[in-house]
Amino acid sequence: MSSELAEVLTAIANVDGFLKDLYVGDDEDLQSALDRIDENGFLPASVSATQGKFLHLLAKLANARNILEIGTLGGYSTIWMARAVGPNGRVITLEYEPKHAEIAESSIAQAGLADIVDVRTGAAMDLLPQIKEEGSAPFDLVFIDADKENNVNYISWAVELSRPGTVIVVDNIIWNGTVLDEGSTDANAIGARAALLALSADDRLETTVLQTVCNKGWDGFALAVVK
Ligand code: SAH
Ligand code: MG
Repeated sequence: MSSELAEVLTAIANVDGFLKDLYVGDDEDLQSALDRIDENGFLPASVSATQGKFLHLLAKLANARNILEIGTLGGYSTIWMARAVGPNGRVITLEYEPKHAEIAESSIAQAGLADIVDVRTGAAMDLLPQIKEEGSAPFDLVFIDADKENNVNYISWAVELSRPGTVIVVDNIIWNGTVLDEGSTDANAIGARAALLALSADDRLETTVLQTVCNKGWDGFALAVVK
């Protein structure tokens, strides 16, 4: 990495810290969710603080009461969204790794959201058909943030479980700009690019993509609304 790039990344991280102080502040329950992720040696893959609040505000804008999340990790983004749905709302979140699901459940309980959040353990592609069968759809908002190889499948499922107006958010859609590299062999880059192309080709959706920079570097969100 060039020293200029390293300086830019440091400056971005500093600004992100400043924004977190201004717009999120100290939040004991969110901080302990992040601490548990760290203590258990999980990858630090949670959304940033300002991105978490962005999801929270999106859920409020959408007046969301019924949210589906694919990819829980330690429940950090889950807590942000669950705080937006109100006492009668619900968040179903899908997580493949039992240890992640267990830690997420404890952080969600600590945040006082155990009655609102339903953490389900398993491969999302196995759990999604059950969610359809049990009649939990339509969701008001779907947040896709799991194994990027399945992004395109998850987008199809999100539409399947939607109604007109449902908001679909796909995280990590830029992956440090690797999406321009058609020959990439990185599964995350391939998954991000495939999602960009699938969203663009899907005429059931109105979509835009925002590139983001934060303490974790350069990435982006796709935001789609079902027509
Ligand atoms: N949304 C979280 C971060 C999720 S990280 C946040 O921002 O706070 C991605 C998670 O997806 C990891 O915990 C990983 O174990 C999970 N995952 C990977 N493959 C999956 C699959 N096939 N089904 C469900 N979850 C999966
Ligand atoms: Mg992510």
